[in-house]
Amino acid sequence: MNNIDWTNLPFGYLKTNYNIRCYYKNNKWGEIEVSTSERLDIHMAATCLHYGQEAFEGLKAFRGKDNKIRLFRWRENAKRMLTSSRGILLAEVPEDLFGKAIYMAIQKNKDFVPPHGSGAALYIRPLILGVGAEVGVKASAEYLFLVFVTPVGPYFKEGFKPVDMMISRNHDRTAPQGTGNIKVGGNYAGSLLAMKEAHENGYANVLFLDPKEKKYIDECGPANFFGIKNNTYITPESPSILPSITNKSLIQLAKDLGLKVERRDIPVEELETFEEAGACGTAAVISPIKKIVDPGTDKIYTFGNGEPGPVTTKLFNNLQAIQLGDTPDKHGWVDIVD
Ligand SMILES: *Cc1c(COP(=O)(O)O)cnc(C)c1O
Repeated sequence: MNNIDWTNLPFGYLKTNYNIRCYYKNNKWGEIEVSTSERLDIHMAATCLHYGQEAFEGLKAFRGKDNKIRLFRWRENAKRMLTSSRGILLAEVPEDLFGKAIYMAIQKNKDFVPPHGSGAALYIRPLILGVGAEVGVKASAEYLFLVFVTPVGPYFKEGFKPVDMMISRNHDRTAPQGTGNIKVGGNYAGSLLAMKEAHENGYANVLFLDPKEKKYIDECGPANFFGIKNNTYITPESPSILPSITNKSLIQLAKDLGLKVERRDIPVEELETFEEAGACGTAAVISPIKKIVDPGTDKIYTFGNGEPGPVTTKLFNNLQAIQLGDTPDKHGWVDIVD
């Protein structure tokens, strides 16, 4: 066993014992390998390094009260990685290879799955890299599919507390017909400057608008946006946002609570009418939003009284209860990893 201070874990990288690797060469996937090294030995002309030919996923496993390890909706991540791979011409990782690799990564690092009640979870990071040497711009002939895991604490140290966000008027994270709907590293490189500017101005994160018309809400840095009003859960429909699995789950839970659900364009001015707002993703589940500032119009939109709203709180608690096994998993979202 290890001496990890589970309740004070940051959301960061902590070394575990093993990672899982599989190479694609000569048009086929090889054997799954278990590695103890944290390093990769790849060619300096690898396409992932020069041309950003890389996609990744992020999901979590939780320990229940019964001490069992619960993995949340991993097949959705497998599917999304396929979509990402098709978008930037990576080799396709079949669902069974994806599943085998993440199960092995968890099983080999069981001691790193945080105990129930610690607020921490095991974060699983599958990624696929173009590793063939190319200098001309083209898709690699060789790939590495890698899965590492790391125990993480809550994304926001302050816990489930509303945060402030700033609309980005100077930067887009993606182009109208670009790669915003797939989970590729390049999108993140493109969002770093906007995030830095938001942080420097005292905001937790940045809210991007649709890159075509700059009229509608797209998403918040690495998380989808939702608003609540009139007993309705409203979230953007846009070709340039990443289809969040957390959002998809919250939509179902909102329906379960008797809310209506709308997926549509959300004009910036509509923010004024929301009773609650939040950002959702695997890392934080939900970050409730207290205030959104628009430097384009100098408008400030505020939601509630500084505490998380009642619907946001219910959705957060209900999703977490399923992930932790504290409530029945009616939708079949959880797999037990023995
Ligand atoms: C990963 C990601 C999300 C959140 O997706 P989840 O499946 O809920 O973790 C949202 N937006 C972007 C840009 C992302 O990369």
